[in-house]
Amino acid sequence: MEIKLTNQTKKFCVIGDPVTHSKSPAIYNAMAKVLGVDMVYLCQPVKVDELEQFIQSVKLLGYGGFNATMPHKECLVQMVDHLDSDSEMCQSVNTVRIIDGELYGSSTDGGGFFHALLSQGCDPRGKNVVILGAGGAAKSVALKLVEQGVQSLVVANRSIDKAELLCKHNLNVMQGVDFQIDTLNRVMSECDVLVNCTSLGMEESAEFSTLEFLDHLPTHAMVCDLIYHPAETKLLEHARLRGLVTMNGLGMLIHQAILAMELFLGESVDRQAMEILVKEQF
Ligand code: NAP
Repeated sequence: MEIKLTNQTKKFCVIGDPVTHSKSPAIYNAMAKVLGVDMVYLCQPVKVDELEQFIQSVKLLGYGGFNATMPHKECLVQMVDHLDSDSEMCQSVNTVRIIDGELYGSSTDGGGFFHALLSQGCDPRGKNVVILGAGGAAKSVALKLVEQGVQSLVVANRSIDKAELLCKHNLNVMQGVDFQIDTLNRVMSECDVLVNCTSLGMEESAEFSTLEFLDHLPTHAMVCDLIYHPAETKLLEHARLRGLVTMNGLGMLIHQAILAMELFLGESVDRQAMEILVKEQF
């Protein structure tokens, strides 16, 4: 893709370790081109012990901001000057704007999942949600869905203490449970939206030992997986064959990038048009 650079071109990047596989430069540069914004978006490997030095450098070089992926999202919470409500809520930062030398941290992960659901015609508000996993992604998704007003949210995790800790956020709505098959079968019967936030099913990762819990879901339930490599996990395949509506993790990735772009620009964009454009990058 041809990018026209000027002396005023605003610089942005994604940092992480590893990060060279990232699709973010292709996504943001494509959005900038269509929106007619004078910006360039690069890929910048940064190790944990280089983060402080990186922050001083981007301030000096006049960057407009950056996105962060593993392992920087939690560390950045302590390093930015301001946190927005989402980053404060999930204690994670994936988007940083630099304005007058000050760092403004945001988290678009949970919002990205919520908007991905809406774009698939599923409004989770007032619904019963079950989340598998209690890691960083589960936390962002769970807390955003609770904030948006789901009726109930069960977090099932292999390490139940992590599920219970996460649910302390709002014990009126959230409940932490274990990952035993009997427990999963039981919680599925009342579930409207199931979200896999574990790494089970990811390429070169472990698989669920059984998917029988899917057979306990009501026929109207939607099954989501945050994984998008492979595009259809065994979980989604099993759910689809059962006739359930499914959604993989690509929508979340796309919508969190659109939300971050809106933060960088300080204005909203045509989300539907951007979604179509970004999908073309995959
Ligand atoms: P994480 O913090 O490392 O959490 C991993 C979760 O998976 C934990 O709850 C862990 O349980 C569980 N888990 C791992 N192996 C397991 C096993 N063998 N059996 C049962 N549970 C197991 O990772 P994360 O950052 O939350 O990411 C989770 C998934 O979301 C990954 O697949 C990642 O690629 C995906 N993701 C997608 C997007 C997107 O934009 N689509 C964004 C972020 C993440 P324990 O707590 O017991 O260890």
